[in-house]
Amino acid sequence: MNKQWIKFAENINQLYRKNFVPLHEPTFNEKEVEYVTDCVKTGWVSSVGSYVTRFEEDLAKFVGVKRAVAVVNGTAALHIALKIVGVESNDEVLLPSLTFIATANAVSYLQAIPHFVDVNEETLGVDPFKLEKYLEEIAELRQGELYNKQTNRRIKALLPMHTFGHPCMMDELITLCEKYKLILIEDAAESLGSYYKGKHTGTFGKVSAMSFNGNKIITTGGGGAILTNDEELADYAKHLTTTAKVPHRWEFIHDEIGFNYRMPNINAALGCAQLEKMPEYIKQKRNLTKFYENLVANFEGIRLFREPFNTQSNYWLQAILLDEHYNRDEILGFLNEQGVMSRPIWTPMHELEMFIQCPKMDLAVTERLKQRVINIPSTPIEVR
Ligand SMILES: *Cc1c(COP(=O)(O)O)cnc(C)c1O
Repeated sequence: MNKQWIKFAENINQLYRKNFVPLHEPTFNEKEVEYVTDCVKTGWVSSVGSYVTRFEEDLAKFVGVKRAVAVVNGTAALHIALKIVGVESNDEVLLPSLTFIATANAVSYLQAIPHFVDVNEETLGVDPFKLEKYLEEIAELRQGELYNKQTNRRIKALLPMHTFGHPCMMDELITLCEKYKLILIEDAAESLGSYYKGKHTGTFGKVSAMSFNGNKIITTGGGGAILTNDEELADYAKHLTTTAKVPHRWEFIHDEIGFNYRMPNINAALGCAQLEKMPEYIKQKRNLTKFYENLVANFEGIRLFREPFNTQSNYWLQAILLDEHYNRDEILGFLNEQGVMSRPIWTPMHELEMFIQCPKMDLAVTERLKQRVINIPSTPIEVR
């Protein structure tokens, strides 16, 4: 391996002062201990308790959305988000092939069909221009609903994802959804603390989903949330995620098949403490970006992925783009050997066994990026 890569790994080991530097670790202090201990001491650890409501309110306030409904994980949040806007069996949902598996799985849980679209290199998110040309060609409006002329199925919604925290081109995607009568749902699982033109991600869609898994910018252990400005949809999301139980002092009446997706109180307690640290995490992540920027400044053949124009990214996961001539796996092998945990971007969804038959557009950019994008250690840290 050449000197540049050796120096690169050394600098990361030095920054984190570790022989093995994980990709993204949660960080806790007395706050988390205090809130979680409170749950344990009072016995309120499970499905009832005040931290869930507090977490939902704090989260909604932080994001700038009317309501947040806390659930067990981000995948469950996506599942319910899609269900409450009316995605039904045999509907198609447009989503990027370049995403984490949960985005596509959630669509499948409703017996709906993922329809894969391409991304652009500026945002790593859905390319609105390419998608518009594609829809022009393959879709048509029938009585105010969009249909895929090739499959004869309804295309119900667009589900963009803000990759590594970098916001998609929302203005263009909103215009596209209006033109084609698509419901917009955001997979904002990775983008807590990310803004597009000053507005928080997850506030553009009719509903959106967030994740608080252990590797995300803040964690509840495992957890997620459904966000919306629509009070009725929020109430319905709450109802569905709490077994669809009709409130009563003692009777067990459930008015439809619901889900046991409620976030436990002990997880919400962790989340309340974590949420208080968001401003600090964002500051640390932006300083880390500067650190990496300096590190790769004179490094030939790689560049650091930076937030798109008009956005403020949370820089959840730092990503480098390798020139075409690099062998990605050789770089990954070297970095991981040096104790610098690094990972490739996800295998695109359209290449996975269970989604191979799903409809898709030309995915040239996705195909190119999958060989070139590497994530490097991104845990928030004080850069000296
Ligand atoms: C993390 C993540 C999710 C949700 O994951 P959970 O582990 O279920 O919380 C969904 N979509 C994307 C893009 C993610 O990165």
